[in-house]
Amino acid sequence: MSHPLESIYALQKKDRRLIKLVREIRDIPQRKSDIEAQLAGSTQKLEIARDSKKHTEASLKEQELEVESLKERVVKYKQQQMEAKTNDQYRAFVKEIGTVEREISDLEDKEIVLMENLEKGKAIVAECEEKLGGEKAGIADELGELDARSAELTEMLEQMKADRARAAEQCDKSILQKYTRIMNNKRDFAVIMVEPGGHCGGCHMKLPPQVTNDARNPTKIVVCNFCGRIVYNP
Ligand SMILES: [Zn+2]
Repeated sequence: MSHPLESIYALQKKDRRLIKLVREIRDIPQRKSDIEAQLAGSTQKLEIARDSKKHTEASLKEQELEVESLKERVVKYKQQQMEAKTNDQYRAFVKEIGTVEREISDLEDKEIVLMENLEKGKAIVAECEEKLGGEKAGIADELGELDARSAELTEMLEQMKADRARAAEQCDKSILQKYTRIMNNKRDFAVIMVEPGGHCGGCHMKLPPQVTNDARNPTKIVVCNFCGRIVYNP
């Protein structure tokens, strides 16, 4: 006669595959949101780069308007200068025009810096856009693959559950109950093989010789004295 633990041991193999499968299916939504979160980071970087570029553009525009208005003032002063009645008036305009022209020159220096910054800002925006675009394309593929994987695994799960139910029918009812109780408690193995040297395959403690001997006997179901798992010694 075959050992009653043989079918239980086979059932455990199926249960372990089921546990792994359920875990993989359960983890897919988290994997998807992790991937999407990655995209959120790159989207945010692009928004920051665009804001910074917009800010530089606004400053540049402001400086340009300021220079324009100062240049108009110079033109006006020069007209007034030609209409000056006295040398003092004339010299006062020379001085005034000099001051405004220095202001214009300072602003134009600042404009050059801003234009350089704007070029850099444009390059950063383009870089962020390219990175995000690439990520979006890659992510769409990854998300699609995960959805397909989830559907495939769910179908596999249904088949495996049915297969498991058939296998459970072949098992001794009372041993199956014991197995189920231990499996629910331990969550990894309920039936373990005796390891070489007479150690428990679950907790690796040295088993008493009586237990390893009884574990060979098809009429006896014994458990490890230390971890309580069913000991199988075929
Ligand atoms: Zn043990």
